[in-house]
Amino acid sequence: MSEQTGNLESLVAANVRQVRERAARALERAGRAGEELTLVAVTKTVEPPLVDALARAGVRHVGENRVQDALAKAPSVRETFTWHMIGHLQRNKVRKALGLFRIVHSLDSRRLADTIDREAKRRGIVVPVFLQCNVSGEASKHGLDPGEAEPMAEHCRNLEGLRVEGLMTMAPYSEDPETARPVFRALAGLRRRLAGSGLLDPGAGLSMGMSGDFEVAVEEGATTVRVGSALFRGTER
Ligand SMILES: *Cc1c(COP(=O)(O)O)cnc(C)c1O
Repeated sequence: MSEQTGNLESLVAANVRQVRERAARALERAGRAGEELTLVAVTKTVEPPLVDALARAGVRHVGENRVQDALAKAPSVRETFTWHMIGHLQRNKVRKALGLFRIVHSLDSRRLADTIDREAKRRGIVVPVFLQCNVSGEASKHGLDPGEAEPMAEHCRNLEGLRVEGLMTMAPYSEDPETARPVFRALAGLRRRLAGSGLLDPGAGLSMGMSGDFEVAVEEGATTVRVGSALFRGTER
């Protein structure tokens, strides 16, 4: 291994350790010490050597926004990771996507649900999905309006090819992580409402929190965080 590669590897390993420690402290603050939290490492901005470094740092879940990018990175590390689709998914990419991704975080329409269902049945699999909800109301964000989440969950109940694991959201970008808190709290509230209607498990997943705000997300109940840039700090050329 070259010195350069070795350096990148130890940087990534230190970053992974630090993110896990910060997440563990946030779990403690929330009275959730010891609870399981899934760290999805978002690799959309990095090349394969850094993806390899994640594997050696013990990361088992990676997320990508685009089907083609993920497929290009996957060959050598395909089986190393569980692949999470976290970006907007076009229906004409579903077939390709399900050849790699095991979990879809970005389910935001009935037509997409129906397409995933059909492809899942063809493959004889059940795809775990999160309903992406636009609780911040930003026009630039994909996702269901909070009022659409309930009918969507009902629609999905009749589809045997997918299983709704929980809800996902993205907070607006901000320097101040506290800006994101009401957004995360709203998603947790939406889960409670859907659980009250029998459409979700009370302990269903919450996929929320990125590099700038994952600790706040964990404090508000995140079960999965999607962290990219914080894992690659210092490796930029
Ligand atoms: C890019 C991205 C992330 C990670 O963002 P960072 O700020 O780099 O941690 C998480 N979720 C989604 C949907 C993304 O597109």
